[in-house]
Amino acid sequence: MSGKAFFIDTTLCMACRGCQIACKQWNQLPATKTENRGSYQNPQDLNFYTYKVVRFQEHEGPDNKPVWYFFPDQCRHCVVPPCKDMGDSVAPGGITIDSKTGAVLYNDKLRKANPEDIRGACPFDIPRAEKKTGYMAKCTMCVDRVHNGLLPACVKTCPTGAMNFGDREEMIKLAKKRKQEVISKYPNARLTGLDDLRVFYLLIDEPAKYHLYADAKTTPMPMDRNLALRKIAISLKELAKERLFINRLAG
Ligand code: SF4
Ligand code: SF4
Ligand code: SF4
Repeated sequence: MSGKAFFIDTTLCMACRGCQIACKQWNQLPATKTENRGSYQNPQDLNFYTYKVVRFQEHEGPDNKPVWYFFPDQCRHCVVPPCKDMGDSVAPGGITIDSKTGAVLYNDKLRKANPEDIRGACPFDIPRAEKKTGYMAKCTMCVDRVHNGLLPACVKTCPTGAMNFGDREEMIKLAKKRKQEVISKYPNARLTGLDDLRVFYLLIDEPAKYHLYADAKTTPMPMDRNLALRKIAISLKELAKERLFINRLAG
């Protein structure tokens, strides 16, 4: 499996949020209004204007001392993306896969979809919609930079080496090497995403202790009745348009 991948080594993350800011800056995304909820994490979650958020979780460590787990969260660029599976059926062409990198990319055609269907299909709860317009957005893998030989903005900015990016096979090797290096200090160290994603994390504990959606399977979501009805309605609309088109040609 070729293409690119990220390796995010959370053992080196100090939660400076440089990656989060760099993402905003490169993508020219505005700040969003936030409020203090008793956590250093800010903003509280991903949103249409925030493709990357560094999540903070406090746990009890050895000797009952508190420890922080930091989790730079972003789209995993799944090799077989469940969001695309959903997008293909409700808004064909709205989600594409970049042939050079494997990046999963959203475009305007996705507006035909119900945003909640696309978000609901993502096992990592990543894509977000703009309320007014229905546009959806998420991490782009900075393909504009990568196609020009540059690192993604978040990787370029990370001062500690927690964020890494390169050929997928190289990132797998680096991830396995780092796990071996830290396993004596962190016996619960583990890697996520090596089989089916383009973002791998090195964690020192159970993924759920970092974030509810830190790790998941990428199997497509089962279809419920409402979604099935919406898909039928979209198909019927398309058929009506095609009928109009054929009638015009004939007449
Ligand atoms: Fe943001 Fe680019 Fe990093 Fe994705 S790859 S999180 S778009 S900076
Ligand atoms: Fe799609 Fe979610 Fe996978 Fe990103 S992480 S490619 S949004 S299913
Ligand atoms: Fe962590 Fe690096 Fe992001 Fe800082 S820039 S929060 S060290 S991943």
